[in-house]
Amino acid sequence: MNLNFNFSEENTMLVDAIDTAMKPWITTRKKELDEMVSQAMFCEDLWQTFADVGLMGCLVPEEYGGTNVGLLPLALGFEKVTAMGVSPSILLVTCMDSACIARNASDAIKEQYLPGIVSGKIKFCFAITEADAGTNSFNMKTRAVARGDKFVINGAKTFISGVEDADYMLLVARTTSLEDARKTDMGQYHGLSLFIVPTDVPGLEKQPMPMAFNEGVNQYTLFFDDVEIGADQIVGEVDMGAIVMFNSLNPERILAAAMCSGMSERTIGMAADYAKERKVFRDTPIGAYQGIAHPLAMAKAEHEAARLMMLKAAWAYDEGWEPAKVGSLANMCKLLNADSAIHSVDVAIETLGGSAFTQDVGLLGLWNGARLLKTAPVSKEMILNFIAEWELGLPKSY
Ligand SMILES: Cc1cc2nc3c(=O)[nH]c(=O)nc-3n(C[C@H](O)[C@H](O)[C@H](O)COP(=O)(O)OP(=O)(O)OC[C@H]3O[C@@H](n4cnc5c(N)ncnc54)[C@H](O)[C@@H]3O)c2cc1C
Repeated sequence: MNLNFNFSEENTMLVDAIDTAMKPWITTRKKELDEMVSQAMFCEDLWQTFADVGLMGCLVPEEYGGTNVGLLPLALGFEKVTAMGVSPSILLVTCMDSACIARNASDAIKEQYLPGIVSGKIKFCFAITEADAGTNSFNMKTRAVARGDKFVINGAKTFISGVEDADYMLLVARTTSLEDARKTDMGQYHGLSLFIVPTDVPGLEKQPMPMAFNEGVNQYTLFFDDVEIGADQIVGEVDMGAIVMFNSLNPERILAAAMCSGMSERTIGMAADYAKERKVFRDTPIGAYQGIAHPLAMAKAEHEAARLMMLKAAWAYDEGWEPAKVGSLANMCKLLNADSAIHSVDVAIETLGGSAFTQDVGLLGLWNGARLLKTAPVSKEMILNFIAEWELGLPKSY
């Protein structure tokens, strides 16, 4: 095996560009950004910064305006943005949807959406979760029924992030009922389809959800009442959306892991800086006390290990490993990086004492962000179920 842990110039170019372009957002424009995030207001200028540095083009072929440099540079970019203290908000789903479209959609759909995504003109959200179909997506009830050259969609989705900010959503709906799907060779995997739906389409009602915190975006419950979408707006084949969808969830999990890795880097760095300066007894910085130093050192070791797994998963995706194998790595790296981020934030809170709870420091926001990424986009329990079944061959209980 030819192992090489050096990053190529292509891998780090994006990180360097982000470092330069994002500086104003963490210095002169920080207050403006903080205010927008606290009110869950979308920041168009920040979005354009993301586009200008090339984040949205990483998974898009050059013929559609992208750079197609791959998931590894993009993951490093996500890590960098988060380590700088900025939440990528709906960038995660826009990039994941861009990969899904680039790999599975018709040429016409690619032409219609990909250049706009790359330039920052088009933003996407992703809608799969329903009240009775969160962990168990197959249970979804939202139906799309063919009528002429259109599909008519009825049903409801919940917890959908950034619908008001996005121009389109990638919607997962049932084109064959679960009951009928179970009679086919594919079983419950059959009968799901992916539609591109404008967020201002007639018949779509958006209800903001009262959440306990936000990362700059709101969550919505969506009601579809006879929403009509052209059959030409399906990504992949009718009824075969499950395979397309699960393959597209791999980049989402890897990018979520990259965000967690960025949070770990930020919080461990912040805590170490503080521990070098803060003196409580005589002239000794608190970082000299092993009660403070060892938890930080442990968090650092866990972070490095989890990060390696994230890099491997992104690399395997770019290398074209089979989706199920990438799926294992993507799941494992999401699990490990979420746990590492939660631990890192906790250790940082311990190190900063009361100051950790002030608004300026922002650690509680990171706590919420890290904790959310343990549950969404896929929970720790379901990842462990996946590993038990697919890596260890253990029987399934559900
Ligand atoms: C802030 C936020 C943003 C979100 N954004 C989006 C979005 O943009 N688009 C979207 O589609 N969805 C989104 N979601 C939904 C998110 O993906 C789901 O909340 C998540 O998948 C869990 O589903 P659930 O909430 O229905 O939990 P449930 O399915 O009710 O699960 C509850 C608990 O039971 C556990 N559990 C269930 N089955 C098993 C089992 N077999 N074995 C062991 N444990 C099990 C789960 O792991 C979980 O801990 C968002 C959620 C939040 C909170």
